[in-house]
Amino acid sequence: MDKKISRNDPCFCGSGKKYKKCHSDLHPDSRAAHLIEMHRNIEEKVTSYQKKTGIIPPCHKGCYSCCFDDFSISEVEFEYMMREMKTWDSKKVEEVYNIALEQCEQIKEERPETWEALEKMVDAQDIEAFRKQLIDHQKVSKNKFPCPMLDQETKSCTVYDSRPLVCRTYGTTHVESNALKSVELCENISDSVKHANETPSADLEQYEASFYLNLTTPDGQRVLQRTYPIYYWFKIFYKRTGKKIAQYNHYDNPLNFNQSIEQADLTTLRGFNLI
Ligand code: SF4
Ligand code: SF4
Ligand SMILES: [Zn+2]
Repeated sequence: MDKKISRNDPCFCGSGKKYKKCHSDLHPDSRAAHLIEMHRNIEEKVTSYQKKTGIIPPCHKGCYSCCFDDFSISEVEFEYMMREMKTWDSKKVEEVYNIALEQCEQIKEERPETWEALEKMVDAQDIEAFRKQLIDHQKVSKNKFPCPMLDQETKSCTVYDSRPLVCRTYGTTHVESNALKSVELCENISDSVKHANETPSADLEQYEASFYLNLTTPDGQRVLQRTYPIYYWFKIFYKRTGKKIAQYNHYDNPLNFNQSIEQADLTTLRGFNLI
């Protein structure tokens, strides 16, 4: 699988701009490119659903209580936010690291079990251990603090264009589990079952995402990758380099961005001695 695109072709993201003037830092078959394509697909799905049914969920600019949820995201999603942070002033980046690291300390003190689950290395192939970790994590769905990417003054997302999938879908779509049992999603959406009847499903997108967010060995085996809350990703990236800078994984080697999934998988799997 190797998508070819020339510098003067329209960018794969659908912006209408030339590739060289848009996402030229991303290989069109990279994890990041697939992520962006999915963002566009989900946005189109939500817009056309709302146009067709006239049902608009209560999400609006300035509504941010879901930014207190303990959302877990994948590494490429975190790196995609870092890509935007690379355009920021270094002081602002450092401030966000400081907020996130402080939040880690708060979790460590107030929710030692959650912290232990985050710190625990789980064998990527141990599906049961993965599931348990996910369930443990879901027990506490709200934090006392908001996401480190929320601007405390304007109450808006500082990486809005690069925000993760969960932030794009939480109030505007549903997944099957929401439709089966009634739970409160946020202060404005009190019944997940009713919400599921009024929004398009994002199950297909979630399923497709699992193929490019995880690793695949040359003989077709899937290697699951951990997801973490945003504050914890900052801790991982800081621990790796000792620097509070906008950076990619692999010591700022942008594997997820400038390599095809196939190449990035091979490099990562070799790095972990998995092949
Ligand atoms: S999910 Fe709830 S809290 Fe979040 S933006 Fe929508 S209405 Fe607001
Ligand atoms: S990334 Fe942005 S939208 Fe998502 S939780 Fe953080 S502040 Fe909110
Ligand atoms: Zn583009």
